[in-house]
Amino acid sequence: MPYHEFECSKCIPERKKHAVIKGPGEDLTSALPLGYLSTIPGSISERGCAYCGAKHVIGQPMKDVIHLSHGPVGCTYDTWQTKRYLSDNDNFQLKYTFATDMKEKHIVFGAEKMLKKNIIEAFKAFPQIKRMTIYQTCASALIGDDINAVAQEVMDELPGVDIFVCNSPGFKGPSQSGGHHTICIAWFKDKVGTVEPKITSDYVINYVGEYNIQGDQFVMQDYFKRMGIQILSTFTGNGSYDDLRAMHRAHLNVLECARSSEYLCNELRVKYGIPRLDIDGFGFAPLGNSLKKVALFFGIEDRAQKIIEEETARWKPELDWYKARLTGKKVCLWPGGSKLWHWAHVIHEEMGVEVVSVYTKFGHQGDMEKGISRCEEGALAIDDPNELEGLEAMETLKPDIIFTGKRPGEVAKKIRVPYLNAHGYHNGPWKGWEGWVRFARDIYNGVYSPIHQLSLLDISKDEIPTDRGFATQRMLSDASLSDEARHSPDLREYTGKYDCCADLLKKEYPVPERQSVAAV
Ligand code: SF4
Repeated sequence: MPYHEFECSKCIPERKKHAVIKGPGEDLTSALPLGYLSTIPGSISERGCAYCGAKHVIGQPMKDVIHLSHGPVGCTYDTWQTKRYLSDNDNFQLKYTFATDMKEKHIVFGAEKMLKKNIIEAFKAFPQIKRMTIYQTCASALIGDDINAVAQEVMDELPGVDIFVCNSPGFKGPSQSGGHHTICIAWFKDKVGTVEPKITSDYVINYVGEYNIQGDQFVMQDYFKRMGIQILSTFTGNGSYDDLRAMHRAHLNVLECARSSEYLCNELRVKYGIPRLDIDGFGFAPLGNSLKKVALFFGIEDRAQKIIEEETARWKPELDWYKARLTGKKVCLWPGGSKLWHWAHVIHEEMGVEVVSVYTKFGHQGDMEKGISRCEEGALAIDDPNELEGLEAMETLKPDIIFTGKRPGEVAKKIRVPYLNAHGYHNGPWKGWEGWVRFARDIYNGVYSPIHQLSLLDISKDEIPTDRGFATQRMLSDASLSDEARHSPDLREYTGKYDCCADLLKKEYPVPERQSVAAV
């Protein structure tokens, strides 16, 4: 049996079936850890709740919307402004957060009147914003406030205003993944099909499950626009509320994060017959293959091929500079859900990094199956780990770096393991050819930062050698590099700009010529 029992969790025997070690030729069916189950009592989870999954992950990147939580202000606090999903309207959705701030008296006497007052107040404070999403929380769900009725009352009183209600309280599902599901279905049922878009191309897509973390989506949109494709809506990074009401007119749903939003694509396929095509914006080869797949669907393969050739020629020498210095480094790949399988194989193939562990907090068994099949033999796969298990894994596996969220990341720093923020990134975007080089650069900066060596010294006690100078990052990374790699004229460090998205936002694209004008 491949299950792995953590020393620290021996007192919680149920945890044993939540971790496996990938053995040689392992039958994945018997090797899968249990997943997407309620957290075992006694194990302190690092998961988010279903409200967090609905608001923080999916709802809040929508840019022209007041996002109002109906509940205690604490629910709002942790779901505000930590994922850096940018927008082209001056980041309205990152600057403000709204909560009704429920107190005990509202639990006793109800909070519907206060909710209505808050909705009107918020619209008055931001008269340029006419759209709102209201998120239910545990408290407002438990007292039974009818948020939909209040929203309808306001829409009747304020013409021009539109409100979406997401009834996904924290307890609805074992993790944030329950909230992803709920908000996707609610959006589909309540809002899709209520606006008719203008069609300007023969090739029309919805770009789904992409949240524009540090500009990922700006980069990807550039490729699609260069191919003459119209992006009808983006769910939900930099997404516009009304564009997303018109999703039913796309020819194709291009899906990035299948974990969080495949539900929406599946509904669009059933009701409107729109096919779903899963793509991957991370890594040269997966990205190139993804553009080719989209192009093949529309019969415009030559346009994708041109982009692939141009971008590869521009960025490959820089990726290879980092690969030469990262080969053999060990990483624990501990993101939330889908990145474990988006990244597991390609960071190994294109950067030389070895994945010694994968974990997921809210992924389902299907995510684990894909992740395990793509990582190295001997890798430790963990579902919903607690903090002590994470520490034990790092002490045993001795990774050079981990990719994870900020809570486990801060724990890793305490034992001097560098971490990259897999959720909000460090110096993203990380998608696209250039973005992938930026990711490699961030890994390099983390692995070779001299600060981690210095932090091992206790200046009050330790002998500090005075006969050696300060070791720079480059000295550390090049110490065991061959002369050929060190002085290669074909390789170079990242040469892009600090903000590589600013120019993309100013870029203009030719209006695509249309063969058929079946305007809708
Ligand atoms: S679990 Fe409930 S109370 Fe806690 S943050 Fe989520 S919605 Fe709020």
